[in-house]
Amino acid sequence: MTTTPYQNLELQPLAGQWRSGSSQTQLPVLNPYTGEELLKLNLATKDDMEQAFVAARDAQVGWAAMGPAARAAVLLKAVEIFDQRREEIIDWLIKESGSTRIKAQIEWGAARGITLEAASFPSRVQGCILPNDIPGKESRVYRKPIGVVGVISPWNFPLHLSQRSVAPALALGNAVVIKPASDTPVTGGLLLAHIFAEAGLPAGVLSVVVGSGAEIGDAFVAHPIPGFISFTGSTQVGLNIGRIACGSQYLKHVALELGGNSPFVVLADADVEQAVNAAVVGKFLHQGQICMAINRIIVEQPLLEEFTRRYVERVSALKYGDPSLADTVVGPVINAKQLSGLLHKVELAKQEGATLLVGGAAQGNVLPPHVFGNVTADMDIAREEIFGPLVGIQSATDEQHALVLANQSEYGLSSAVFTASLERGVRFAQGIQAGMTHINDMPVNDAPNAAFGGEKGSGLGRFNGEWAIQEFTRDHWITVQHTPRQYPF
Ligand code: NAP
Ligand code: MG
Repeated sequence: MTTTPYQNLELQPLAGQWRSGSSQTQLPVLNPYTGEELLKLNLATKDDMEQAFVAARDAQVGWAAMGPAARAAVLLKAVEIFDQRREEIIDWLIKESGSTRIKAQIEWGAARGITLEAASFPSRVQGCILPNDIPGKESRVYRKPIGVVGVISPWNFPLHLSQRSVAPALALGNAVVIKPASDTPVTGGLLLAHIFAEAGLPAGVLSVVVGSGAEIGDAFVAHPIPGFISFTGSTQVGLNIGRIACGSQYLKHVALELGGNSPFVVLADADVEQAVNAAVVGKFLHQGQICMAINRIIVEQPLLEEFTRRYVERVSALKYGDPSLADTVVGPVINAKQLSGLLHKVELAKQEGATLLVGGAAQGNVLPPHVFGNVTADMDIAREEIFGPLVGIQSATDEQHALVLANQSEYGLSSAVFTASLERGVRFAQGIQAGMTHINDMPVNDAPNAAFGGEKGSGLGRFNGEWAIQEFTRDHWITVQHTPRQYPF
């Protein structure tokens, strides 16, 4: 059976209808590698957004009233469509977000995985009955959908980072409005809407508003209808969203999945080869544009020379360029603005005294891998989130020093430590101020059933599995007084 690729991707599902945004302003969607214009779409206006939220509020009631098996069936059908349209989805990830083929396959798998996981949520969500001291009182806690969920997602893993909110939210009986990143409206929203429409999701339950965050973002977050804003993106924008959603006017549920600055620690007893392998993929997958990507390599002194030599050797041989080729591991960064920010970071690292060990000139939006040695914790390349294919190596005098360096960051998303002693690894992991730590692996890990999220400047809330069930529902305590209660006066 051959499936026809989805057509008319310039249309948005707005309030139950596929139509153009009402703005006269057009957004060209570009291929970050070739510069080719993939399509052009009219942006949604605040009025379009208003209609989407109203329709979501109305449609949510019927959707939540459908039985768990009926909602699960839509999610399971979506999984089937993910399989049928695997190549089409991967192709979009490559051409719209500059994903290498390897990364696009991983992202397809992650988005499919959370959809399958979410298909179990309608039957897993549960309330409870609690003991109560008052005679004749029955005390129950119901779990209910929040209502309408607003999802704002970034361009780096657009399909997965939208879907990890959209699938659980829908499964648990919520309606959703997505505002994808302007660089990735197709993979961050429109493709998912096509998949869910084909899977039988009732019209109006899911809308996509394509608009610039700077223009409609505040109004999206401040809209009275969405009771939950699930945001994935930069810490700067996330802080602003927190201010609006939980500020002077509103108290909404929020999930804020923000920036990271993952330390990758190699202790002196580590298996160097495995550590090097992990540090290559953990840094350069998707050109380093991953919130969990290695941002700082910290090596205990006795291994510094050997680790650096072997890492430089491996990184120098990485193939960069055309992301559609099966063996390319470093493709383009998302756009020229990101590239110029990264080139500035390279210059800054040199000025601050770091030693360039691997480098090369950018070709189009492709920045070859860069590695710096002699990096210290006060340098920009160590302090700030990089979000690109460059990294610095720092030296630690001992385990304790390595831990101090690892925690020397305003962020706390993911982290990793390599050691031959697993107990030592666990002890070290417990000392790291982060939401996630992986022993003898890279910090880039996401499993559909495991708590995903960060501490400190990396955000608030957890995704996946049980944690998503908690996030995308609300508790309602209801008591029943079966016999007349004896009051004190
Ligand atoms: P970004 O600039 O914060 O944008 C993220 C999303 O927010 C986009 O959809 C953007 O729309 C929108 N936005 C911008 N201004 C807004 C406003 N005032 N109100 C509401 N929405 C607004 O982040 P990015 O550059 O796309 O992504 C990179 C960042 O995301 C990095 O810091 C990375 O670490 C973080 N990230 C975190 C995770 C995680 O799970 N913790 C995962 C991936 C990425 P426009 O595109 O229209 O501007
Ligand atoms: Mg941005």
